Amino acid sequence: MNVLGNGLAGAQVLLATNNAKKLKELRRITAEQGLGIEILSLADVDPYPEPPETEWTFEGNALIKAHAGAERSGLVTLADDSGLCVDALNQMPGVRSARWNGPAHDDQANLDLVLRQVDDVPDALRGARFVAAVALVTPDGQEFTTRGEMPGRLAHAPRGKNGFGYDPIFIADDQEVSADAEPLTTAEMSSEQKDAISHRGRALRAMMPKLREVLKG
Ligand code: IMP
Repeated sequence: MNVLGNGLAGAQVLLATNNAKKLKELRRITAEQGLGIEILSLADVDPYPEPPETEWTFEGNALIKAHAGAERSGLVTLADDSGLCVDALNQMPGVRSARWNGPAHDDQANLDLVLRQVDDVPDALRGARFVAAVALVTPDGQEFTTRGEMPGRLAHAPRGKNGFGYDPIFIADDQEVSADAEPLTTAEMSSEQKDAISHRGRALRAMMPKLREVLKG
């Protein structure tokens, strides 16, 4: 038993990603919850070909990644899938966010394309949200999903250098703005500011009770 007395000390969980930022965020959240577990990434397990994301829902694609990880590693595995849903584009790019401008996964080209597609959309109709699904799969095939959302709207031009993807054009609703200041895009926030309100943070936190339950067996 660890110092926190939760009986989970030494338990290993795989996060099926190569993304160092996602790994850091999950480690911070599990520590914050006093879970005392070890989070591994794909760099820590025997390499395997990542499965294609062929589903049309965030949950479906997160499950594909988590099943592959649990089958290949034999570990309880978490995976996420996320994207930007734009009201004026019928909730697209959605699950196609990373490939919106083609298969190259080019963040700048994807962002430029979304901006062009909404260039004549007025402020009142520029609503958008980031959505993330997190899947948890056990080696014996049990599966669970959670979802987190960050509502907001699209800016007219990119601002800020932090974050990734569509962050320079996304203005989250959940921020305090003083009367004489412009609201920040998520690329102008610190990673702590963004993690506190982010879709991924919300979906991961919602999964923590299930993770605790699964690990306790
Ligand atoms: P994935 O879930 O890591 O595959 O991300 C899918 C795509 O959604 C990314 O390539 C980004 O284009 C977009 N995306 C997801 N989350 C965020 C975010 O927090 N900020 C900016 N873009 C994001």
